[in-house]
Amino acid sequence: MSTSQNQQIQITKAATTKINDVDFDNLTFGSVFTDHLFECDYINGEWQTPVIKPYAPFLLDPSARVFHYGQAIFEGMKAYKDDANAVWLFRPDENFKRFNNSASRMAMPSVPENVFMNGLNELLKLEEAWVKKGNGSSLYIRPFMIATGTGVMANPSDNYKFMILLSPAKAYYAGEVKVLIAEHFSRAANGGIGAAKAAGNYAAQFYPTNLANKEGFQQVIWTDDTTHTKLEEAGTMNVFFRIKDTLFTAPTSERILDGITRKSLIELAASEGINVEVRPVLVAELVAAAKEGTLKEIFGAGTAAVISPISGFSYQDVYYELPKSEDTYASHLKEKLTNIQNKLTEDTFGWTVKV
Ligand SMILES: *Cc1c(COP(=O)(O)O)cnc(C)c1O
Repeated sequence: MSTSQNQQIQITKAATTKINDVDFDNLTFGSVFTDHLFECDYINGEWQTPVIKPYAPFLLDPSARVFHYGQAIFEGMKAYKDDANAVWLFRPDENFKRFNNSASRMAMPSVPENVFMNGLNELLKLEEAWVKKGNGSSLYIRPFMIATGTGVMANPSDNYKFMILLSPAKAYYAGEVKVLIAEHFSRAANGGIGAAKAAGNYAAQFYPTNLANKEGFQQVIWTDDTTHTKLEEAGTMNVFFRIKDTLFTAPTSERILDGITRKSLIELAASEGINVEVRPVLVAELVAAAKEGTLKEIFGAGTAAVISPISGFSYQDVYYELPKSEDTYASHLKEKLTNIQNKLTEDTFGWTVKV
């Protein structure tokens, strides 16, 4: 099957729409999906004709490799609507590249650019009414790929399914977020899959995060697996620290996911005249700064919440509360970035792409 630029997508429209049943002011993140999804199967080395069809459950053989060996990857991105009702994506090329990097690490086939991009564009055109206007409103996009080949032989599948789901989202406020700095568990290891957006990375986080929840912390700040002395990510987000008036974040590595929000914030902060240092940040530095009173902010950065401020952290059973302030880098940068994403301000970076 050819995957040329003009590749046709077979479109089957849903008989009815669910949109009138959705309360767009009270959305729980990731719980409601639009009327259609995009799907493209990879069978014995060939990408098949892509389809857009009504959102519905589907059948898989119980021996499908995804259930046994976890070949599963995903992306998270958003679409926004401007005042003139045009739909925009934020740095979609970055998500596409990262998706195929994840695929490569999990011994899965790469998805051709036209399958990913045309599929996404056509699906968004069809579901355009689900993208709401205004800062805070977006349509969350979930591309993913699973191994569908049958048989429990422990080797990569021959067959895969690539899909894109859409889910309307409102601004996401996590409430107060207290974090526990990991002293034993790890999210990722050198030589592992931490840099891939692989489903298994999330599964591995649930148990230590549950333990932290039981102690009254909403999230875990992951440290490096060998020494647990370097601060790496906050939950499923990249993490920034403000000490005095400098922002610090760790360089990406085999253990740290190359977040698009992270890299955008680094550029945005620099353009706002904020001093940003990309270098390993030690737990000891954080504790020392908290004791001295120079630690002003910690925040997570990722597509879903954009920026998620952290109110305090615990390390070796001591809780360090951060100062409360209205005038933070977190709120300033979040406003700047979401204004660019929602087309409420000029995008001087060239990050936004029209659908
Ligand atoms: C997806 C993800 C991020 C954030 O990446 P964005 O591109 O900013 O959404 C950060 N850390 C982990 C582990 C992730 O899976």
